[in-house]
Amino acid sequence: MTSAGPTTHGAPLDRAALWRRVRAAEPFDLVVVGGGATGCGLALDAAARGFSVALFEAEDFAKGTSSRATKLLHGGVRYLAQGNVALVREALHERAAVLHNAPHLASRLPFVMPSYHWWERGFYGAGLKAYDLLAGGRSLGDTEFLSAARTRTLLPNVRAQGLAGGVRYWDAQFDDARLAVALARTAAARGALVLNHAPVTGLRREQGLVRGVTVRSPEGEVDVPARCVVNATGIWVDALRDMDRDTGAPPPPPLVAPSQGVHLVVDRAFWPGDHALLVPKTRDGRVLFAVPWLGKTLLGTTDTPRDRGEHEPLPLRAEVDFILDESARYLSRPPGRDDVRSVWVGMRPLVKPQAEDGADTQALSREHTVRVGRSGLVTVTGGKWTTYRAMAEDVLTRCMARGLLPPRPSGGTATLRLVGAAALPQASAAPTTLVAPPGMHLYGTEAQTLRALPGADHWLWRDPESHAPVLSEAMVRFAARHELAASVEDVLARRSRLLFLDAAAAAHLADAVAAVLAEELGAGFDAAASSTTFGALAHQYASLP
Ligand SMILES: Cc1cc2nc3c(=O)[nH]c(=O)nc-3n(C[C@H](O)[C@H](O)[C@H](O)COP(=O)(O)OP(=O)(O)OC[C@H]3O[C@@H](n4cnc5c(N)ncnc54)[C@H](O)[C@@H]3O)c2cc1C
Repeated sequence: MTSAGPTTHGAPLDRAALWRRVRAAEPFDLVVVGGGATGCGLALDAAARGFSVALFEAEDFAKGTSSRATKLLHGGVRYLAQGNVALVREALHERAAVLHNAPHLASRLPFVMPSYHWWERGFYGAGLKAYDLLAGGRSLGDTEFLSAARTRTLLPNVRAQGLAGGVRYWDAQFDDARLAVALARTAAARGALVLNHAPVTGLRREQGLVRGVTVRSPEGEVDVPARCVVNATGIWVDALRDMDRDTGAPPPPPLVAPSQGVHLVVDRAFWPGDHALLVPKTRDGRVLFAVPWLGKTLLGTTDTPRDRGEHEPLPLRAEVDFILDESARYLSRPPGRDDVRSVWVGMRPLVKPQAEDGADTQALSREHTVRVGRSGLVTVTGGKWTTYRAMAEDVLTRCMARGLLPPRPSGGTATLRLVGAAALPQASAAPTTLVAPPGMHLYGTEAQTLRALPGADHWLWRDPESHAPVLSEAMVRFAARHELAASVEDVLARRSRLLFLDAAAAAHLADAVAAVLAEELGAGFDAAASSTTFGALAHQYASLP
């Protein structure tokens, strides 16, 4: 991939002006409901094709599943084992696109699978060689067979007893919430209206056809007319589909079954080095990762069916025990419960086979589904972060084929650089971009804008292990002015990722962040309430069941 495209700087986004635009009642070609990976990617693709687009997010961009991924851009070695070659090939293509379009938010990452049985190295190595072949020219590095000594060098804290060797392969990792915000801002730079804290409360229907949405603004409900409405609300798609029901009709059978995955975050001391660990088969047949990310180590994850979707799902004790116990089998110095800096839970929107209540979530589809209802409401769900762009193309192709939107060619999102991406391709960017503690480098070219803001040298937080500067007063101002952050949580959970990295440190900063936001957001912002609400959330992330 060589097209450089123009450098994009995001303009400031003024919430009051955006609400005025919403109230102008100008019809949009497309309204997207939901501001996760799927919705933000879709808004960008539609705006790049020249459609007029509005995106409404009930809470904050990526507040749902899209800030809670394992942060891997991957083809899915597991899907290869299941023989799903097309899915893997598409995801490997998309992995390359994200690395090209957002090199400040994504970087390649080496993985090592240690083997403790003589046959494992050859068995998994052969599969990973096939993974390289599928990636073709987009391969990020060759799969290599490792001796036991080399495996120990690359994985300094791996259990050495019984180690027979290992296999190294390459994938990539990213900052999920910042990528969602970058997608939304790039869409805005292309003319889309993107708004968080704007829940859709109803669908506007004319003669049985969906013709727009009702959005809750701070001043009351606003009707927004649109030719086409796409439901991209992740695990909440069924609630919006329910709004589409004829009076008196029974609720539609649910489309998704939520399944939760827990991550534990511990210090890098438990996983030094810059290689990730992949255990392909835990005792109960799952995959376990230890991933160096933003100066910490992520351990996870689980796959536990739940009855309903929640914005802040709680981990179960059995899930935490499973991750710690499995980690202890592979780490020579394993973390204990007291070493966990943050625990967070994401919910997968797994697509149910219709008319079936299947309880086994591993058997449900992890691919995405696009459905067009009789009323013309389009629903998209499932899939994975890595493939958000392909999903957006798929949705728009369906909308155009069904006559909901006029045909327009692709806007070139495969090579469209996001806000903050440098003009020159950075395929050779250091593999450690996302391994190092967060800082100015995650802003890419927009670091220049940050440097010009008040408080650029006033560091609110430094990484305790490396002393690298992590969060500045200027970053909080930038979050409010450019990234539509409206609360302490928006800043400390998804603009900075401190809540996910070290919940106690994040709680400690709540008042300082609230004070800066009060200056930026003015009279409508209740600093004390925002700080207190965040404190309660940080307590949840800092506590194990
Ligand atoms: C534990 C876990 C690990 C994962 N790891 C990876 C990984 O490493 N790599 C990968 O590629 N994928 C991964 N995934 C999958 C990936 O995270 C999801 O597929 C993706 O984030 C789903 O995005 P989404 O936009 O569809 O849903 P969401 O991110 O949940 O977005 C839906 C949004 O809709 C909003 N919404 C709901 N109702 C309304 C309404 N009425 N009005 C307005 N807005 C509304 C919600 O607030 C939410 O923000 C993982 C998933 C899980 C659970």
